Amino acid sequence: MTTPRWSRVLLKLSGEAFAGNAGSGIDGEVVTRLANDIVEVKRGFDVALAVVVGGGNIWRGLTGAGAGMDRTQADYMGMLATAINALALQETLERLGQETRVQSAIHMQQVAEPYIRRRAMRHLEKGRVVIFAAGTGNPFFTTDTAAALRAVEVEAEVMLKGTHSGTEGVYSADPKVDPDAELLTEVSYLDVLSQGLKVMDSTATSLCMDNELPIVVFDLMGPGNLAGLLAGERIGTLVS
Ligand code: UDP
Repeated sequence: MTTPRWSRVLLKLSGEAFAGNAGSGIDGEVVTRLANDIVEVKRGFDVALAVVVGGGNIWRGLTGAGAGMDRTQADYMGMLATAINALALQETLERLGQETRVQSAIHMQQVAEPYIRRRAMRHLEKGRVVIFAAGTGNPFFTTDTAAALRAVEVEAEVMLKGTHSGTEGVYSADPKVDPDAELLTEVSYLDVLSQGLKVMDSTATSLCMDNELPIVVFDLMGPGNLAGLLAGERIGTLVS
């Protein structure tokens, strides 16, 4: 097995990625592809891998709040949506022969373990992919913040934030609007915050900055990108 660039990694998968071209729901082919990428790196590298999944393909709290719903209730619905994605990813990974555990920040004992940090660490040591569901368990947060939090908690060396929108990382401007937008290979946390670059929300970015957790933003759908990153290739944008 090859020694990876980072030995413990937190991978953030946006919920929208799970939807594929349909834009909502779960596209089995996309989940299989993502799972195959994970299996490939688990077989090729001596790496501990934890995953945080989003839920935007099913429900976003802000959408509900925008339509007049109570924000807290809408956010709990969003957290439950992430659990559906977590179970879909778990099922696919296990079918491909990769052992997994789902740990949820909201108790749902019939389908997932509760989040227990020390137990998560033990699973990682045993080579299991740990999928964290239900975000932070609190409304008014995002799964990006959950990813930053869990990454720091399980002592991951990096957070790999996969994008799904066909962009390769962080740009100087919106590449879909501005033809002069340039892909940035490296950018500081402070630049992300002060220039409002579209990486993650400020809570998640600040948590990474305060704990010196580097983030790599990369195109999740680019074939071989995850393996390439672990092999040390310069892919996407490094935020540090
Ligand atoms: N959410 C929450 N607290 C958390 C994480 C998520 O309330 O700690 C809710 C929030 O409503 C959010 C939804 O879950 O809109 C889905 O998560 P997110 O939007 O982060 O998913 P992604 O953008 O990654 O698909």
